[in-house]
Amino acid sequence: MDHIAVIGAGQAGASCVETLRKDGYEGRITLWGEEPEIPYQRPPLSKAYLLGEMTRDRLHLRPESFYADQRIELRIGTRITAIDAKARTLTHAGGTEAWDALVLATGSTPRRLPAAIGGDLDGVFGVRTLADIDAMEPHFMEGAHLLVVGGGYIGLEAAAVARKRGMNVTLLEAAERLLSRVSCWDTALWFAARHRQEGVEIREKAALERLTGDTRVTGAVLSDGTHLAVGIVVCGIGIEPNTDLAAKAGLAVDNGIVVDALGRTSAPGIWAAGDCCSFPYGDRRIRLESVPHAIEQAQAVARNILGADVPYQAKPWFWSDQYDVKLQIAGLNTGFDHVVVREGSDGHDGRSHWYFAGDTLLAVDAMNDPRAYMVGKRLIEAGRSPDPAQVADASVPIKSLL
Ligand code: ADP
Repeated sequence: MDHIAVIGAGQAGASCVETLRKDGYEGRITLWGEEPEIPYQRPPLSKAYLLGEMTRDRLHLRPESFYADQRIELRIGTRITAIDAKARTLTHAGGTEAWDALVLATGSTPRRLPAAIGGDLDGVFGVRTLADIDAMEPHFMEGAHLLVVGGGYIGLEAAAVARKRGMNVTLLEAAERLLSRVSCWDTALWFAARHRQEGVEIREKAALERLTGDTRVTGAVLSDGTHLAVGIVVCGIGIEPNTDLAAKAGLAVDNGIVVDALGRTSAPGIWAAGDCCSFPYGDRRIRLESVPHAIEQAQAVARNILGADVPYQAKPWFWSDQYDVKLQIAGLNTGFDHVVVREGSDGHDGRSHWYFAGDTLLAVDAMNDPRAYMVGKRLIEAGRSPDPAQVADASVPIKSLL
């Protein structure tokens, strides 16, 4: 195998090329990225970086010299326009190159509000890239009015940063509560209370009819007739996996590029990892938007390209920072039928919400409770479930749940 090409220079792509070298691959490696930026971490963008507490350099996963040292050809600022699964080539504006194995780590794109309702006015931002944050940051001025559209973790993180920067914040959520895709009512209510306490105006069941303004956004009209004056809009209304290249090349796509447990797509020699793909998880197929998952699935793909033949075990771990709250999530709560609340662990502050299906523990949301997160994560990894009555009893030492 002379050339392994990796498309997408985000967390998954970077992890893949690094692992290929670490595990002894000596051939040519190219890493193709559309953004003009060496690989960087995205999670801090909507947190410490937007707050001004983290410099650009510290976002980078590795210094630029690392790639040269590792003989990884970094082809950033280059958009791949097509791949050919039969001829085993990729094409960009500058030409066509042959590969022996190809990894798609193309990530995802934030959904946008339709242009017909003002989604393309100046001052309306999505949250995904360093360029997105650099463009919105100058508008995060004390006293300015921010409208956040979407009450998922992205929207809530933006709201928290804006409040810390002294902005007036209104957050619109179309559903009847926050976090409806990812969390239970208990977690949603807890975060809603926290944000209201910090001064965010949260409007649930709020349908945005349109944004107004000539070229720049100046207002928003809700379907109940409310008019809001707005200086800047941040949208956190979910993402779509980037599957175009794969679909045009005839690869199977189903809520992401379809891969098997080894990371193989439906086309021989082409693999995929991270946000862009869906993979088998128990008896279903899921797609995860999680950094630990992107890193580990990409490592598994790298090893499997080199012949390891090891099925990937999903790593559904997540986190979010809002104000002084560190939220850590272990597991996937899909299919839960009840939630057990635990107040603090071992006399510490914090709180955790434990999702069960019958007697089976599925997931834990831990707010400022790293002990509960660690214990929940270990139980979930081991496929074990604690007694819900013991979980609920804060006087039971958390470690005894193991
Ligand atoms: P993200 O990762 O961007 O936070 P989620 O899917 O977890 O994505 O959350 C997005 C939230 O945005 C959901 O709770 C959804 O109900 C809400 N949403 C989607 N479209 C709109 C809209 N037009 N107005 C208000 N809320 C919206």
